[in-house]
Amino acid sequence: MKKIIICNWKLNGNKKFIKKYIKILKKNKKLYKNNKISISPPIIYMDYTNKLIKNTNISLTSQNVDINLKGSFTGEISAKMLKKINTKYIIIGHSERRLYHKEKNNILLKKIIITKKVNITPIICIGENINDYNLKISEKICKKQLKYFIKKKGIKIFENIIIAYEPIWSIGTGKNASIKHINKINKTIRKYINNKNKKIKNKFKIIYGGSVNKNNANKIFNLKNIDGLLIGKSSININEFLKIIKNINK
Ligand code: PEP
Repeated sequence: MKKIIICNWKLNGNKKFIKKYIKILKKNKKLYKNNKISISPPIIYMDYTNKLIKNTNISLTSQNVDINLKGSFTGEISAKMLKKINTKYIIIGHSERRLYHKEKNNILLKKIIITKKVNITPIICIGENINDYNLKISEKICKKQLKYFIKKKGIKIFENIIIAYEPIWSIGTGKNASIKHINKINKTIRKYINNKNKKIKNKFKIIYGGSVNKNNANKIFNLKNIDGLLIGKSSININEFLKIIKNINK
C-alpha cells in the first residue's frame, strides 16, 4: 500500500511560490510514483493549488475546518466548501491550533465528525509535550488523547482516519524523536485501538510528524508501523522536499 506524505506549509507561501513548487513537483513525478503526496497550503491558496494539481496524483489537505457546515460563523471555512475543491484530508488538532487557538477535545471531536460527514479523511494529531516525554509518560498521554474520542463516540470514530503522532517537543525544533521512540508509540497506538474492537482492526493509519528532514526521513518513513509522514518546515523548500522523497525511496 502506498504511504502518505503530507506537506504542511502552515502560514507560508504565495501564488508565485506555489506555481513554481507544483511545476517542479510535477516534473519530478517519477520520484513519488509509489507514494501519495498531499499539499497543505494556507486556506486562501487552496483553490489555486487545486487547479494546479489537476490531473496529477498530488492531492490537497486543509490545515483547518470549522465545526459548522454553513451559517453565521464569521471567518470560518466549512468542510463542504473544502470538499467542493477536492480536499482529501483535513488536519485536526495540530498542536499549534491546540496552543494558539485553544482548541480542546470537544471542538476537535466536532471537527472530526463534520469532516467524516463530507467524506474527507481527518488527520488527527496527538502527541506528548517535553515534560511528558521526560517523565516517560508519552504512551499514557497519547492513549489519553485518543480515549476522549472513543468515550464520546465509540471506537468507530477511528475508522478510515489518519492519526498523526507528533511529539510536540519535536515540531519545528529540529529534534526528531528517535526511531525507537517512534516505533514504540506507534505500536502502542495501534494496539490500543485494535484491542478495543476487532471490527476496527487496522482500518486506520498512523503517520509521524516532527522535524522530518532529508537525513532522517528514510528511516522513519520505512518503519513497518508507519503509514507516512507529516512534514512542516522541510516541505516548504522544494529542493529539500525533493531530497526527502528521493531518500525515502532509496
Ligand atoms: C508539523 O507542522 O506538523 C510539523 C511536523 O512540523 P515540522 O516538520 O517543521 O516539525
